Amino acid sequence: MSAIDSLPPLREVIATHELSARKSLGQNFLLDLNLTAKIARQAGDLTGFDVLEIGPGPGGLTRGLLSEGARHVLAIEKDPRCLPALAEIGKAYPDRLTVIQGDALEIDPLAHLTAPIRVAANLPYNVGTELLVRWLTPPLWPPFWQSLTLMFQREVAERIVATPGSKTYGRLAILAQWRTDARIVLTLPPEAFTPPPKVSSAVVHLSALSAPRFPADPAILNRVVAAGFNQRRKMLRASLKGIAPDIEDRLRAAGIKPTDRAEQIPLEGFCALAREVARS
Ligand code: SAM
Repeated sequence: MSAIDSLPPLREVIATHELSARKSLGQNFLLDLNLTAKIARQAGDLTGFDVLEIGPGPGGLTRGLLSEGARHVLAIEKDPRCLPALAEIGKAYPDRLTVIQGDALEIDPLAHLTAPIRVAANLPYNVGTELLVRWLTPPLWPPFWQSLTLMFQREVAERIVATPGSKTYGRLAILAQWRTDARIVLTLPPEAFTPPPKVSSAVVHLSALSAPRFPADPAILNRVVAAGFNQRRKMLRASLKGIAPDIEDRLRAAGIKPTDRAEQIPLEGFCALAREVARS
């Protein structure tokens, strides 16, 4: 196994800085630097890009991103115990790593980033989906990032790339596929992590389209889809009752039968419905 940089192996880093994994922070670390470099390569060509990394932990993926040529990495980490290990990486890559300690849900990273920007992260599930939805639903498009390369539980990754009619098709599929090309690029067994989680994981790569596939207001689309899939077995005329007083007319105007269920409706149909709701 070849080392990707002159820094100590990650097991040693973890022992030196006493970084025992904390469940409350969703800490399942990647310690194989060949694997973290491989994940970094899935983000695309990093040369000339700033990379926003959320949750660097002891810095395995951070080291991959830097060794793969990122111009600059901005890493946001909640756990202050990780800062000394990350500072060592900063020393090995002078002026190419900035670390901010704090909660990624609270911090606006834009002041510290210069376009073009890619995002890469191996995050706990709940924070990951919340951030993904925020990154996919800004009022204006294209967004601040060109691509997102994110590790999720495999089941969540499958929800992002799901197609209509499948059990996993829902809000994440619609929001992701509306404005990006989304693909699963890597699947990883639990043993790839220390400690191993209960389930497999997968890396999803989403590249931003220059314009959404169909026109719609992001806040209205998000609201319609959330309501539709909140009660996914119900007919849309019932699950969307709270969205508009004349929802049956809106559904028909969008070319959707009021008796259809959310899981049968393709992206184009939801966008047409969001436009009709905006009109009412
Ligand atoms: N990237 C590292 C790796 O691949 O080994 C660590 C991955 S671990 C699954 C998730 C990391 O996210 C942990 O370091 C954890 O402390 C951090 N984290 C958890 N919640 C966070 C939040 N709200 N904001 C920023 N970092 C967070």
